[in-house]
Amino acid sequence: MQNPIVIIGAGLAGWTTARELRKLDKTTPVLLITADSGDFYAKPSLSNAFAQKRGPAQLLTTPAASMAASQNVTLQAHTRVKAIHTASQTVHTSAGDFTYAKLVLATGAQPIRIPMDGDAASAVLSVNSLQDFSAFHERLTDGQESAQTAAAKRHVVIMGAGLIGCEFANDLIGSGLAVTVVDPSASPIAALLPPGLSEELREALAKQGVAWHFGTTVQRVDHGAMTGGALKVQLDNGEVLAADVVLSAIGLRADLSLAQAAGLACDRGIVVDAQLQTSAANVYALGDGAQYANGRTLPYVMPIMHAGKALAATLAGQPTPVQFPLMPVAIKTPALPLVVAPAAPGTVGQWSQSEPGVWLFADTDHVIKGFALSGAQTSRRAELAKQVV
Ligand SMILES: Cc1cc2nc3c(=O)[nH]c(=O)nc-3n(C[C@H](O)[C@H](O)[C@H](O)COP(=O)(O)OP(=O)(O)OC[C@H]3O[C@@H](n4cnc5c(N)ncnc54)[C@H](O)[C@@H]3O)c2cc1C
Repeated sequence: MQNPIVIIGAGLAGWTTARELRKLDKTTPVLLITADSGDFYAKPSLSNAFAQKRGPAQLLTTPAASMAASQNVTLQAHTRVKAIHTASQTVHTSAGDFTYAKLVLATGAQPIRIPMDGDAASAVLSVNSLQDFSAFHERLTDGQESAQTAAAKRHVVIMGAGLIGCEFANDLIGSGLAVTVVDPSASPIAALLPPGLSEELREALAKQGVAWHFGTTVQRVDHGAMTGGALKVQLDNGEVLAADVVLSAIGLRADLSLAQAAGLACDRGIVVDAQLQTSAANVYALGDGAQYANGRTLPYVMPIMHAGKALAATLAGQPTPVQFPLMPVAIKTPALPLVVAPAAPGTVGQWSQSEPGVWLFADTDHVIKGFALSGAQTSRRAELAKQVV
């Protein structure tokens, strides 16, 4: 019997690879192994679901069984891959061993957890999956349909003023919750946005009621009823905040233990070449867990769509390097809608505002390498993308 192409992971990267492969090859057996249920959902919706009054059930777009049937894939759900043996081309899992002809690692990345003191430190939540979102939603709604119909107004302290932290802040404040954001930097999304635009975002969210605490971090979280919440959140500047829920949104990092134990080259992600092949023959990687040929990790939807398409062609027998075009990211902060196309890491240059809502990043030779747009100007993303060299 023909050994299957084995895909590990049922996130966007795993399912996109299966779908693209089936467009080119309808018959090679595909086995998709995943630690979760395999149900398909759009992960970006997790950070704007409250405003749309969508709970976990509404976010699930296609049940795992329907996905598997439509892609003609054998699904091995609720199964964790514990080891990869590249010499024998087998994966060892909680449900037994499987031999592969080709292996795709679509294992994603996991929320970074910083060590924290306090008897409620383990109650701090992160949201990086539909299952995480269910727990978060339940804590904020008492199982009711929306935060507005919950028994009392809830207070959320968000750790991290990056892209995901700001999206949650906007979503929750717009849904009638009280929101405080804590971050060691000086302004929101500071790593991606020009300083002036970051300041505009800070003001726009403050106007909606978001309370900011910059230049400090959460030191400990304890149980202990206070006015405004059942948790006491102590900051390292000495301030104490009340919260019902503490959400950590300080970033993701790939868990590389599986790949490293298999002897695959790893850095900040599983290292792949232009054809998405890892350092082992017949083993490929893409998605949030991969580090692409130019040394970049690209934890966004568009890179996965491009990588999935190229990898499917390679798996179907036509070796195809992935080519990433400029991929602007839309930031879901309706208080100030934003689109940002950052310059490649390491590009030396500076931001300047060319007109209201339009910021350009030029290198030392005055060549435009990135841009940021706000408000109504976000509709000009395609036009601006053409100006980037
Ligand atoms: C709240 C939020 C909002 C976002 N919004 C946007 C946005 O607006 N635009 C944008 O471009 N991007 C956005 N992103 C990023 C985007 O959603 C991710 O880049 C993408 O979903 C990652 O998909 P993935 O398949 O690589 O990883 P994941 O979705 O993490 O999937 C990994 C899969 O691997 C499985 N797995 C891991 N280890 C094992 C193992 N050992 N054995 C078996 N299975 C395993 C897991 O169970 C899971 O099924 C957002 C992310 C978050 C968290």
